[in-house]
Amino acid sequence: MSRQLVAGNWKMHGLAPQLVGIAALAQAITARPVNADVLICAPATLIERAARAAGGRLAIGGQNCHCGIAGAFTGDVSAQMLKDAGASAVLVGHSERRQQHGETDAAVAAKAGAAWRGGLLTIICVGETLAERSAGHALSVCARQIAGSVPQDLPADLGVVGYEPLWAIGNGKVPTAEEIIQVHSYIRQCLVARLGAHAAAIRILYGGSVAPENAREILSLPQVGGVLVGGASLRSADFEAIARAASA
Ligand code: PEP
Repeated sequence: MSRQLVAGNWKMHGLAPQLVGIAALAQAITARPVNADVLICAPATLIERAARAAGGRLAIGGQNCHCGIAGAFTGDVSAQMLKDAGASAVLVGHSERRQQHGETDAAVAAKAGAAWRGGLLTIICVGETLAERSAGHALSVCARQIAGSVPQDLPADLGVVGYEPLWAIGNGKVPTAEEIIQVHSYIRQCLVARLGAHAAAIRILYGGSVAPENAREILSLPQVGGVLVGGASLRSADFEAIARAASA
């Protein structure tokens, strides 16, 4: 099994002064290494400077990309552009993109295809709403999103799935360990059924209100290949503590 991935999602936060947090984190994990791959998905405007601040000691990613390589797509950014700016990863299909920008599974699949072909680690986000969970549909929603959003030719070394139940994002609510195990195990089955045996190596991250206080328990679950962290990733000490909670 590959190392766990501790990925931060800064969302639409971050100006030049926040780069000191990345430099501090890079320095801290160089002085005392962590048992995880560490990634910060920064706003597009900061990627180049964030990569410089990281100095190759942690990875920098984007939060979205267009499905094309180049063209008349005002305001969009391609996977190649992210890579050119210093990114080595990208999130696609985050629930905020799906909900606020109407991104469909097919659109997410097209972005994911462009991202991995562009050489980026491609983190495809899935997860159910509270209404869907309450109706007993958590697993079927994830299955539908995996079937629709994960390209069939996704290579295991560039593919990551982020399970982020929407009801746990940004509010301190976290599923129980049993709930996480159930969904991660099911997502694994769906990935293997869709992509074949090599999908056993794709990391499945848990995301939603991960904090220093709960990271160790979540990261100790064998079904969890890492975590996707929103709010706490903006505080470099908290994010470092989460990275230190990764199992060896
Ligand atoms: C997210 O939106 O990707 C996320 C996991 O946010 P938070 O950690 O703040 O719940």
